[in-house]
Amino acid sequence: MSDRADGAEVVVDLDAIAANTAALRDRVSRPLMAVVKADGYGHGLVPAARAALAGGADALGVAVLEEALALRAAGITVPVLAWLHRPGTDYAAALTADVEVSVNAEWALAEVVEAARATGRPARLHLCADTGLSREGATEAAWPALVDAAARARTDGDLSVVGLWSHMAYADAPTHPTIGAQVRLFDEAVAIARRAGLTDARLHLANSAATVALPETWYDMVRPGIAVYGLDPLGGNPAVHGLRPAMTVRAAAALTKRVPAGVGVSYGHTYTPERETTLVLVPVGYADGVPRAGGNRAPVLAAGAQRTIAGRVCMDQFVLDVGDAEVAPGDEVVLWGPGDRGEPTAQQWADAVDTIHYELVTRVGGRFTRRYV
Ligand code: PLP
Repeated sequence: MSDRADGAEVVVDLDAIAANTAALRDRVSRPLMAVVKADGYGHGLVPAARAALAGGADALGVAVLEEALALRAAGITVPVLAWLHRPGTDYAAALTADVEVSVNAEWALAEVVEAARATGRPARLHLCADTGLSREGATEAAWPALVDAAARARTDGDLSVVGLWSHMAYADAPTHPTIGAQVRLFDEAVAIARRAGLTDARLHLANSAATVALPETWYDMVRPGIAVYGLDPLGGNPAVHGLRPAMTVRAAAALTKRVPAGVGVSYGHTYTPERETTLVLVPVGYADGVPRAGGNRAPVLAAGAQRTIAGRVCMDQFVLDVGDAEVAPGDEVVLWGPGDRGEPTAQQWADAVDTIHYELVTRVGGRFTRRYV
């Protein structure tokens, strides 16, 4: 679909991404891998990556190989790590494109080794330890054998182990007891790898929350995502961490109408104005990533004030009740942004619809035009 010209746009402030990256890197005084998976958390994979690099990111992290290959196709040459692979992943393509890969298990390592032999290109490998998230990574029991297999493949010239890493379960609750336990398990996993001769690997554990709150997790490199985009991983005010939200989601009123008290608004008539009022039709809906749960709950800036969405969010549109305020078709409404023009923040939306800002920014899209400033 071509860009729409009606003002429904996701505006991405690339300078904010660069400045956030620089602020995070200054904070930790060590290398930073900017996480740009999921289309740069909804901000655009390649533009977000370039902005993070402009802000001093040393490496980029993505989930799936296709994202890494897209970065390479765009001419980005810094180290890129892709960490989420399925059986049969085209590791040959990864190695040919000089993409670093991570493995969680010996069978995956065997696939990487096979690709290294087929392409004649040794892999740059990260080994992931499960230190308590019970998601990616080798368990404590499986780790020694994975490390030994990697050490053998390294001796055979099939790979170098450039990273040892894990992921936190509770970094957004900085006093949670699992944090110390995860750090201890990570240290033990690292010690096992070092004893097996894997001494050159860079250690990385910290996501955004750990980057802002847990210095004991910083090791050789931090791996923030959401904070790069200016959202507070702790759910508070990002300015406290020197961060500025990079995304603004706005639209233009498609229609306004004066209606009497008592009309039923939108599907199911879940909203009824108590007095004669002005309704404003906003032409974006759940097909564009505006959560349906925002009906009668989420705030939107219109005519200088935040208004709660009136009635249900539909597939392509929703309605605002602006009372007696003056609004004309074409006037701007803002769903979320940095908050400095009085618009709601993604955090406010997340609180209103009982989700996290990660979900909002990664899902918004659909027929919104994305515009970079
Ligand atoms: N590392 C891994 C393995 C991840 O899956 C993610 C994102 O979910 C990140 C780092 C970045 O996390 P955050 O966006 O909380 O900084």
